Amino acid sequence: MNMLYDALFAPLAGRRDPLLILPEGGTITGQDFLAMVARQAHALRAAGVQPGDRIAVQVAKTPEALAVYGAAVALGAIFLPLNTAYTAEEVAYFLGNATPRVFLCDPARQEALSPVAAAHGALVLALDAKGAGSLSDRAAGQPDHITPTPRGPEDLAAFLYTSGTTGRSKGAMLTHGNLLSNAEVLREVWRFGPSDVLLHALPIFHTHGLFVASNLTLLTGGRMIFLPGFDLDQVLRLLPQATIMMGVPTFYTRLLDAPGFDRDLVAHMRLFISGSAPLLAETHRAFEARTGQRILERYGMTETNMNTSNPYEGERRAGTVGLPLPGVELRVMAEGRELPRGEAGVIEVRGPNVFKGYWQMPEKTREELRPDGWFITGDIGVQDAEGYVTIVGRAKDLVISGGFNIYPKEVETVLDEVPGVLESAVIGVPHPDFGEAVFAVLVAETGTALEAEAVLAAIRDRLARFKQPKAAVVVQALPRNTMGKVQKNVLREAYRDWLRI
Ligand code: AMP
Repeated sequence: MNMLYDALFAPLAGRRDPLLILPEGGTITGQDFLAMVARQAHALRAAGVQPGDRIAVQVAKTPEALAVYGAAVALGAIFLPLNTAYTAEEVAYFLGNATPRVFLCDPARQEALSPVAAAHGALVLALDAKGAGSLSDRAAGQPDHITPTPRGPEDLAAFLYTSGTTGRSKGAMLTHGNLLSNAEVLREVWRFGPSDVLLHALPIFHTHGLFVASNLTLLTGGRMIFLPGFDLDQVLRLLPQATIMMGVPTFYTRLLDAPGFDRDLVAHMRLFISGSAPLLAETHRAFEARTGQRILERYGMTETNMNTSNPYEGERRAGTVGLPLPGVELRVMAEGRELPRGEAGVIEVRGPNVFKGYWQMPEKTREELRPDGWFITGDIGVQDAEGYVTIVGRAKDLVISGGFNIYPKEVETVLDEVPGVLESAVIGVPHPDFGEAVFAVLVAETGTALEAEAVLAAIRDRLARFKQPKAAVVVQALPRNTMGKVQKNVLREAYRDWLRI
């Protein structure tokens, strides 16, 4: 048996209905996609890929790119997708760290990256945004069927590198068992089935678009409207064909900004899911007011797949990430002990979803993964009496000012409630007296003239003095990465000297 292949890919055999619906109107049937997987797997094997080898991939999102994932699984190799935004220098680090057998990249980058790939012993193959390139050339004419290499639950299926905002990226090692167990749980809790059509506008180099979205659809026999990225017009045009959409919060704010986005357009939708970054409670409410639908927010990470989810039936609480998933244990810790419900601390999780450690970084693994299986997420959260989890912030974003701990999220929530404030990001900046001082970056609602001083005055009675920002600025937009996460490291760098003198 090959655990993932048998569950996700083998069932496509003989499937004559579309698996992938493409934006230009074409479709790819399940059996045609499976044949693509097989041809690529033969081509990769012929190129020297052995079980356990890494296949690093930095290419545009196409059906062919998704098929490489299937080919890697079939060969018992390890799929290693890379963010398309990474520079050649960053890619060089990943190639050196993971030493893949094959590196698949866009033809435009092949020349720049070939020397570094060669230095690490990787063969470079190309795949462009239309699915053409040397990989597809080699795959053409290969057999349409492959017998998968046997793999069990403990065998590695993928490395996903963490975003590495503090120090070097780490390769999270995920097994067949990690990935399949999570997809099986999500199938139950979100009621996925063969009649579902998922609008897939997420990247496939990240756990959200690759595992949550694609694994789940493959496992349950549904379809995907497979978009190269989030294009508002395309999404509005294709939503009528979908039953489910998964997105990062920015997808939902962009939809809310679109005049044509209304109740009628989405009346047929079964489910909207959000994750990867906090969904503002305000977005949740605005979405419901506009469409009558309550977004289901869930929480997960590269190392753990999904950990918690708001319920499908039952209350989806705005501003919370819901309840621990079946089979996932969750606890809130501080100073080595478990905190009672209602108190904020570092979230730890344990379960079949939790990864096997960081590739060739035993020390980092020991720091974050306890011997008894608990993973220290680094997220600060609180669980209420009914079990609902709220993320309060990231441990590393904690601001310590004059000896007091300040959770940026708490301050942001208060700032966001000031009329005229659309959103905010609170960071710590160096300060001569306090060590660090609280600093706020504000974004105004469209059409509002926002005065930073006036906003600070408005919250004066609402927060303890030590939590109040010492200064604030108004900006056009917060810097975000492709997964919608606010890049606080960018802000910390930009405002580093603001309060120094
Ligand atoms: P990544 O490994 O890139 O998926 O990032 C994982 C991190 O994203 C988590 O540790 C959280 O800090 C954050 N995250 C994911 N989902 C949510 C959510 N629904 N609300 C708040 N933060 C989230």
